Amino acid sequence: MTATINRPLQPPASSPASALLCRNCGADYPLGAQHACFECFGPLEVGYDADRLASVTRQGIEDGPHSLWRYAGLLPAGHDPATRVDSGTGMTPLIRADRLADRLGFTAPLWVKDDSANPTHSFKDRVVSVAITAARELGFRRIACASTGNLANSVAAHAARIGMDSIVFVPWDLEPAKITQTAVYGGTLVAVDGSYDDVNRLCSELAETDEFEETAFVNVNVRPYYAEGSKTLGYEVAEQLGWRLPQQVVAPMASGSLLTKVHKGFKELATIGLVQPLEYRIYGAQSSGCSPIAHAFETGSDTVLPVRPTGIAKSLNIGNPADGPYALDAVRGTGGAMAHVDDEEIRAGIQLLAETTGVFAETAGGVTTAVCKKLVETGRLDPSRETVLYNTGDGLKTLDAVAGRLSPTAVIAPTLAGMRAAGLL
Ligand SMILES: *Cc1c(COP(=O)(O)O)cnc(C)c1O
Ligand SMILES: [Zn+2]
Repeated sequence: MTATINRPLQPPASSPASALLCRNCGADYPLGAQHACFECFGPLEVGYDADRLASVTRQGIEDGPHSLWRYAGLLPAGHDPATRVDSGTGMTPLIRADRLADRLGFTAPLWVKDDSANPTHSFKDRVVSVAITAARELGFRRIACASTGNLANSVAAHAARIGMDSIVFVPWDLEPAKITQTAVYGGTLVAVDGSYDDVNRLCSELAETDEFEETAFVNVNVRPYYAEGSKTLGYEVAEQLGWRLPQQVVAPMASGSLLTKVHKGFKELATIGLVQPLEYRIYGAQSSGCSPIAHAFETGSDTVLPVRPTGIAKSLNIGNPADGPYALDAVRGTGGAMAHVDDEEIRAGIQLLAETTGVFAETAGGVTTAVCKKLVETGRLDPSRETVLYNTGDGLKTLDAVAGRLSPTAVIAPTLAGMRAAGLL
């Protein structure tokens, strides 16, 4: 194996990012395009200068752009507006879901953070905004990813916006809408005859080749920067609640990164004094067709055993989740829980969310809603505590999941008699 290509990053003095830290052994490295520890091969995470983080104020954030870049003071890239890629991502609606709360037996407020409202209709625009900005700062010429679908949409769109070449890799059996929604942006789209985990392995190998030296794989060689984008899902909920933390959150898990970063975002806000500390609980949701993290949780294990994914929640189908152990730590450490739901429950979850909130979620949102229901019913999630559900993608991306069970109430002739015949008059 050749050595990891390490491009040094020289962020402007205002940037709070100070180093890359190994999440496994704690070794530290200078900021650059590196994602694994040379000592132990553990994953690297961005570390920050505590004083610089602490200089961020609520007012400064509120005066910032109406996008995730309002939190630039807490992110590892984008301090120089000339490199920042602002697609208008973030500041998605936080919806008070009283009717869903009633259906699930909540006595405390229940909220839906609707990230389907992002430019390419999933939460992935957050991680890509930060990753492509970091890639530019690191001097890469091309952007790439291994994707379960939504990441491909977002990478291709962001590259198109700034005129950067893109090459995205997806498993061949993706939902047709996600193929179309990626191809339309005009980059190179490679469908791989294999699972996401095969795609990911291929991309890790490609990232080490000379031919790909100028290519930033957002979730491989610039993954530490990519992952930080998910912290904004935590920041925004706190800001939208009037600068306070919710008592419970339910988040979907693919690699487990999003969930761990919501936790990191909440902790940072409390540490720097932008919110009151609060003992919140984090809950993780997977589909039964791919539940390696939830399975480890249920069996009390620290080891996440890889699985071969099946089922309709394709955006969550990562059989060998890189951040699984850290997601377990976040959920166990906060006193939360994990659960998984089968395809029928996912479909019902999509409909339940739509019927009670007007939000049409993709399968991942169905997973989160159905898991929330299951956790309440089994007494593991407390309906008397304020709770936020993360909806991470748009139902139009996975229409086939529910299309078969939904049709017009009646088909009628354009007359009053037609209405009467259908029993509607
Ligand atoms: C990628 C994705 C997630 C979660 O991804 P992580 O790998 O756990 O960070 C959740 N929902 C949707 C719709 C996604 O595309
Ligand atoms: Zn290490």
